Amino acid sequence: MKKLTPVEPSQPVRLHEYDPGDHCGLSDKDRTVEKTDAIAREIGDLQQQLFTDSTQALLIVLQGMDTAGKDGTIRRVFDHVNPAGIVVSSFKTPSAEEKSHDFLWRIHKRVPAFGQIGIFNRSHYEDVLVVRVHADTLLPLRLRSDRGLFKARFDMINAFETLLTQSRTRVVKFFLHISKDEQEKRLEAREKDRSKRWKLSDADFVERKFWKKYQQCYEDVLRFTSTEHSPWYVIPSDHKWVRDHCVARIVRDTLQSMHPHPPTVDVKSALNLKR
Ligand code: AMP
Ligand code: MG
Repeated sequence: MKKLTPVEPSQPVRLHEYDPGDHCGLSDKDRTVEKTDAIAREIGDLQQQLFTDSTQALLIVLQGMDTAGKDGTIRRVFDHVNPAGIVVSSFKTPSAEEKSHDFLWRIHKRVPAFGQIGIFNRSHYEDVLVVRVHADTLLPLRLRSDRGLFKARFDMINAFETLLTQSRTRVVKFFLHISKDEQEKRLEAREKDRSKRWKLSDADFVERKFWKKYQQCYEDVLRFTSTEHSPWYVIPSDHKWVRDHCVARIVRDTLQSMHPHPPTVDVKSALNLKR
């Protein structure tokens, strides 16, 4: 399999150079699905070790256009994780209370505790994506003429993620990259299939009209907020089995690189202390 590398910090990104239909060198779908399940089991074991370690946490950020498969990825990749060790947070249009704070307030509250994996289904990045695409309606009036607003937000996001990393919360970010044609197929499939129709919303069709603008905003996000310590990965997501496999591998490798191990108690010195 072709190893996916993170987006290089500060380098311009052109999404049309990333093929959403890429197979990443994987040829056999059934075998890949089996392997993904085996990796998901490894992730379950590693999470168990992280749980007993409780001095560090992992935060996974999932972003993508509607139907890119954020929910499906979570189901597949974290299928074997003890539910006690994982917290999934979905970020929707901010409530009135959330809007009356800075944009990272609601995010920071949902960051995983040590010992946990946190998954963000959408995230603080919505504030430099949907809010940027629809700045004329979503931004408060006083901010609309601020030309440097989104660049400043990238800096704030980088500072926030540095804070997390230095406080022992590893951050890994995935952009689930689908093509516009594949989205059309998925929207049609959702419309036809009664069991999937609930997932459709009018907003999906409205946002689709802003495809190009979204892609440009994603390019900036990837360029300005992929860092050494909290990298972005562009995941080819037209094939769900390729997408799940790529994400699973990166999550597994990341957990391994964190070397989670339970704290050891030095019984002798602990007993001496009590004397
Ligand atoms: P879904 O994830 O499909 O349930 O949709 C959630 C919706 O909430 C999407 O249309 C997001 O773009 C929107 N959303 C999430 N965060 C924000 C935000 N900070 N400002 C405005 N809309 C948001
Ligand atoms: Mg949706």
